[in-house]
Amino acid sequence: AKSEGKNRLAFYSENLTKAAKLRLALDRSIRRALENREFVLHYQPQMSLHDDRPTGVEALVRWKDPTRASLVYPDEFIGEAERTGLVVALGTQVLEMACQQGRAWLDEGLPLHMAVNVSARQLRSPNFIQVVADTLERTGFPAGLLEIEITESTLIGDTEKTLAVLMMLRDLGVSLAVDDFGTGYSSLSYLQRFPLTKLKIDRSFVNQLPDVGAGCAISEAVVKLSHSLGMTVQAEGVETVRQLEALRAMQCEFYQGYYASRPMPPDALRAWVLERGL
Ligand code: C2E
Ligand code: CA
Ligand code: CA
Ligand code: CA
Repeated sequence: AKSEGKNRLAFYSENLTKAAKLRLALDRSIRRALENREFVLHYQPQMSLHDDRPTGVEALVRWKDPTRASLVYPDEFIGEAERTGLVVALGTQVLEMACQQGRAWLDEGLPLHMAVNVSARQLRSPNFIQVVADTLERTGFPAGLLEIEITESTLIGDTEKTLAVLMMLRDLGVSLAVDDFGTGYSSLSYLQRFPLTKLKIDRSFVNQLPDVGAGCAISEAVVKLSHSLGMTVQAEGVETVRQLEALRAMQCEFYQGYYASRPMPPDALRAWVLERGL
């Protein structure tokens, strides 16, 4: 029994080492990817429910890892980048690319707003506001067209610091959306305290539409909550026309999801918007 225990220990530590080695390799390749500019953005249209036309896009990061055959999706690297702090540098590159692209579309006569995901660690990094202000200035993208998406969990820890950062963003003229709303653990009181402009109903609730049930009740509650607090509301992960109709009946203003379009590379997005009309 004793040697069995020893073997098990050896087995675990070997596995641990393997996991640690894998993580180290991933960290190294994320660093390399940042240096070599291997991250690219795809864009998913954000639609007005009122006329089913695009009002803007959400920038979603992908990794063109030259050692792999296909694009790498954020699930595979955002968590690790968040853990190591590399997500701060990654987020800076994302913001730069998104604003540059947004400016280019604006110059072509396509005034699309640009939603960018910002992780908690990035938002609390020491010069985040400076990075945002510099990026807007350098790219010439109007602050009024930039929307930053944060998750509920960002609003929990260190509320003083978070509040200060969000107020500075608001003062710059940037909009603030709460992503995956309803899946976090925070209390509702912060909705009053922070200068938020939009709630995004999480896909897990939208999924359950139009059946009468918890998902439906929660979606409707989020719509009402947003409106009574003077915010707009957007549903994410809309895949069917029936979900769309249910949301329309609830007076939800915006949606995004495969029903309208999957995220696309910039050229495809541009063609899609031109065909669809603004
Ligand atoms: P998210 O911000 O909630 O983004 C929505 C995700 O849902 C995207 O996955 C999108 O492709 C997917 N999606 C959109 N419509 C539908 C639909 O109708 N059905 C289904 N099943 N899925 C849909 P993606 O691009 O793989 O991104 C995953 C997550 O990675 C994002 O979730 C976000 O949390 C994170 N992420 C993506 N880009 C960035 C970034 O630049 N910075 C940071 N910090 N996180 C990012
Ligand atoms: Ca998002
Ligand atoms: Ca989301
Ligand atoms: Ca999500």
